[in-house]
Order: sequence, then structure tokens, then C-alpha cells
Amino acid sequence: MLYIVATPIGNLQDITLRAVEVLKSVDLIACEDTRHTKILLNHYGISKPTTSFFQHNRFIKGEYLLNLLKEGKHIALVSDAGTPGILDPGYNLINLAIKNNIELTFIPGPTAFISALVLSGKPAHEFYFAGFLPNKKISRKNKLRALAKLKCTVLCYESCHRILATLEDIQEVFGEREIVVARELTKKFEEVIRATPQIILAKFKQTKPRGEFVLVI
Ligand code: SAM
Repeated sequence: MLYIVATPIGNLQDITLRAVEVLKSVDLIACEDTRHTKILLNHYGISKPTTSFFQHNRFIKGEYLLNLLKEGKHIALVSDAGTPGILDPGYNLINLAIKNNIELTFIPGPTAFISALVLSGKPAHEFYFAGFLPNKKISRKNKLRALAKLKCTVLCYESCHRILATLEDIQEVFGEREIVVARELTKKFEEVIRATPQIILAKFKQTKPRGEFVLVI
């Protein structure tokens, strides 16, 4: 059985009882970064073998994990933060398991964009999650122009390195409307800013933005 296990996006307490139980019971835990996941495992007194499964070894390691699953081993798949498969290599293993008729189940938990959507107060009955926007300015703006045509709440992920450039592009494409920047959710410096791009840009130009971000438009 492949157990897809959601883990915290910051606060280590945000894990379900079932997730802890499953992590304690499996033969092996496949993690993006074993050192990162060890912090969580140590916190809950879980001492199970771990192995790395990340972007650059996902094909070779995927086959290795598939063989173990075929032998009848129970494997838990976790990512560095939140829900495996949401913008991390978990997707590849989940697909491989499905194609090979491996039994799988999901132990639900946090996802950064759902937390941001709920906190934003923006309409949540219909929304579009755009993942990470393209790196290159031209492609990013084209993507934003396409998103601006949607008649629903739009969410995307962003890092501290690109947040200023992305906010400038949002300002240009969407104009001065209120957006929401959700930063470091569930962590010590959690912050939810509800303001126009201009105001947020001014704030971030004064105090360098740090951490992880979800943008809600
Ligand atoms: N699997 C994760 C999930 O379920 O949300 C997403 C993984 S993706 C590689 C990492 C991105 O998620 C970060 O760059 C950031 O945009 C967003 N993110 C993760 N944790 C966050 C947090 N605590 N606060 C705000 N955004 C977060």
C-alpha cells in the first residue's frame, strides 16, 4: 500500500493522528529531503527508515519504490511541506503506483493554497490555482493576462526571490485592486496582507520580504 501523507506547512502540530499512526506503521518513508522530514519524525518519536524521493531522482527512485510496493512493502510518501503531489515530485510516484495497480490512499492535511484561500476572505466557491508562475517576465505576464480573464479567485505560489517582480507584473496586468499576500502560514512570522499591489510593494521595498508566499487575486 502507498500511503500519501500530508504533513505540516510550518507548525509541527498541524498533523493528524492518523498521519502519525501511518508514519509509525509503514516499512519505509519516502521524503523529498530526509533531513527535513527527520525533524518532524523526531518530534513525534517516529523511528522508521527514510529514503529520498525528489525532483532529480524521481524516475530511478520511483522504479525502486515501485518494486518494494510490488513486494508487498508499505510505503508512506511525504513532501517537505503540505500535501504530496501539490507541486512536488509526489505526483510522479502517485501516477506510477496507479499505472501499476498498487493500492493507494491519502491521509489529508494542510495545503498552503487552501490555507491562504480561506484566510484571504476572497470568494472560495470557485477558484483557480495557478501553481508557480513562469520565471521569465514575458511568459509570466502572458500567464497573468490569461488569468485576468478568469471570473474567479486566482491563487499562485511565490518565493521571496521573485515576489517583488511578480507583484509589479500583477499591478500592471490586474491594476490597483485589493489582493492578498499570505506569508509564512502557520509559522512564527505568519502574515496576511490585504491591500493593493502598490501598498504591498511599498511595504516590501521598505522591509525585505522573507519566507514563503501564496498570492490571492
Ligand atoms: N506541497 C505543498 C503544499 O501542499 O502546499 C507545496 C509545495 S511547493 C514546492 C512550495 C511553495 O508552497 C512555497 O514556495 C510557497 O509558495 C508555498 N508554501 C509552502 N508553505 C507555505 C507557508 N507556510 N506559507 C505560505 N506559503 C507556503
